[in-house]
Amino acid sequence: MILPQAVILIFLFALGISTGSFLNVVVYRLPREMSLVQPGSHCTSCGKPIAWYDNIPVFAWFFLRGRCRHCGAAFSFRYPLVELLTGLLFITLYWGYFSQNLRQPMPEFFDSGWLIYLGHIALLSALLAATLIDAEHWIIPLSLCYIIVGLALFLSLFWPYALDVPANQLWRLVPYAGPKSAALAGGAALGLAISLLLIRLKILKRSFHELIEAEIAAENQQKNHKITNQAQTMQSDSRSSPQNTEKQPANPPPTEPPTDLPEIPENIRREMFREILFLAPILILALGANYLLTSQTSLGSAWEKFLLDQKWASGLLGCVFGFMIGGGVVWVTRILGSLAFGKEAMGLGDVHLMAAVGAMLGWTSPVIAFFMAPFMALGWALARLVIYRSREIPYGPFLSAATFLVMLFHDPIVEYFAVILIPP
Ligand SMILES: [Zn+2]
Repeated sequence: MILPQAVILIFLFALGISTGSFLNVVVYRLPREMSLVQPGSHCTSCGKPIAWYDNIPVFAWFFLRGRCRHCGAAFSFRYPLVELLTGLLFITLYWGYFSQNLRQPMPEFFDSGWLIYLGHIALLSALLAATLIDAEHWIIPLSLCYIIVGLALFLSLFWPYALDVPANQLWRLVPYAGPKSAALAGGAALGLAISLLLIRLKILKRSFHELIEAEIAAENQQKNHKITNQAQTMQSDSRSSPQNTEKQPANPPPTEPPTDLPEIPENIRREMFREILFLAPILILALGANYLLTSQTSLGSAWEKFLLDQKWASGLLGCVFGFMIGGGVVWVTRILGSLAFGKEAMGLGDVHLMAAVGAMLGWTSPVIAFFMAPFMALGWALARLVIYRSREIPYGPFLSAATFLVMLFHDPIVEYFAVILIPP
């Protein structure tokens, strides 16, 4: 099929600004624990529903001069800006992948390249939403990360079959594990299941357990005080989820002191020890599986043959490996940083975010992005230090921006490090 480039770009731009319109809803409602579908778009000032023609991305805002048709209340300029930005991200990714051929060996868009594009724009959309929420509320909603991980697990099963790419080149574009990383990923997944079970059985305690309990108690108290006609809360990231999956305040905003919570002495060493205990089964089983499955025995050769025959398993385990490495790099840094500085460094939201990036893109991308992000954050951090005398910044936006750059410039970066690490 041959379509003029311009037609494709216009279509993808329209898709992008419509997605951006939905992201505006996500960014407003998700941190407020409101439903994403009900009620439909309405003016927050007069409550009147917004007609479809007043809800056309980007254009309607300018058409209405940024005001509600009924009551004249001003709508933030942020709405059309986010829509425009999403549209630009969608066409930039297409331009980079299929027009400039930045990623090799990328199949043609209409052959099977669109399958990769689909996963990557889903990730970009989630990263943009996480960025906007993190910048405003200092949290990263874990449901966003879980959606991406779920989609990545699903896609990774089919990519090895659907993509017109030789098996030994797949890792350049999508998660695809060799025998060693597949064994590590399998063991790690088993360890993660065991750790989550131990938390569920209350044998292990999640870190900041007491703090979270106190928060829940305080919140319940507040709820009893005022009867809210709040819409259904999001269930996916409810308090019952294991480990500290509740939206962790990455770093409490310095301008807003936490609401009158009961004083609980924070023992950062104890909390980090709990997190190390959680990670221990994952590490031990990963190394154990690697030892068993990649040995020069019949088991080792059976494992190799299994992965060659069952490409879906290589894809799936590549996705799991990316998840573990992406999350692991941030988590290890968090534990070391917290122990070194005596206070929580990097949120568990950041851990989940990079785990999701690794699940969708494979293990190399989150590692590169993680080491790129500090350089991007540096200028911002210095400005904040000078202007607000604040040493804390939300880190999600910089991880997200770095990830976008890695998506585009993955190949030259990997090549560069390959030259350094594997001298000719
Ligand atoms: Zn209104």
